[in-house]
Amino acid sequence: MRGHVELADGVHQLTVQTRINVIVLRDDDGVTLIDTGLDRPGLTTRLARLGIAPSEVTRVLLTHAHPDHAGGVRRLRRHGSTASVSIGADDLEVGRGVAQPPTPEHLGGRLLSRLPQPGPWGRAVAVPDATALEDGARLPIAGGLEVVATPGHTVGHVAFHLPARDVVIGGDVVFNVFSLRPSPAFLCWRTAPNLDSVGRLAALGAGTLALAHGRPVTDDVAGRLSQLVTDR
Ligand SMILES: [Zn+2]
Repeated sequence: MRGHVELADGVHQLTVQTRINVIVLRDDDGVTLIDTGLDRPGLTTRLARLGIAPSEVTRVLLTHAHPDHAGGVRRLRRHGSTASVSIGADDLEVGRGVAQPPTPEHLGGRLLSRLPQPGPWGRAVAVPDATALEDGARLPIAGGLEVVATPGHTVGHVAFHLPARDVVIGGDVVFNVFSLRPSPAFLCWRTAPNLDSVGRLAALGAGTLALAHGRPVTDDVAGRLSQLVTDR
């Protein structure tokens, strides 16, 4: 199926909208999604092609609360999902819709945050019942899933490490759309901590790095991430 990559046993990457990926973890106790894309039909139609109905999604883990990651929660729930939703502790208030994101450091980011955004990009994402993910937490999913705080793109951005599957899910810490590079400055809250987060992902030593935007990295993940840090 186009837009589908099986990264490891039970770990699937689905491209649900143009250059927007969602990770699907299938386990005995249900389906976990890491990020959900925009509130657009691609999410539910792509899941259906894997044979997954929204009601089978039992858990959603968000790397952060941007509309192209958290927007699909609303779509899932409209289609019958009662999934629990969790987000990094330092993004929780923004994710719940009770706080505004702090002002980004980059001028382009400040301008972008004031401009009206089109369609599903412009809708504020709020998941009032979201719960917090703490750095280092280990969840009993896919043989053990570890929460890795990776601040910078947002204050409370988190990545997810699946040691038993040799996979790390990096969210927006790095993009691999045209080439592998740290999250662009105008999309970041702060670039310096994001670069530290690139180093943190490198140190995990996983064989596969999946990202929200662009192709997964399967060759020399640690070396290529470390190179991004040295290049800055
Ligand atoms: Zn983002």
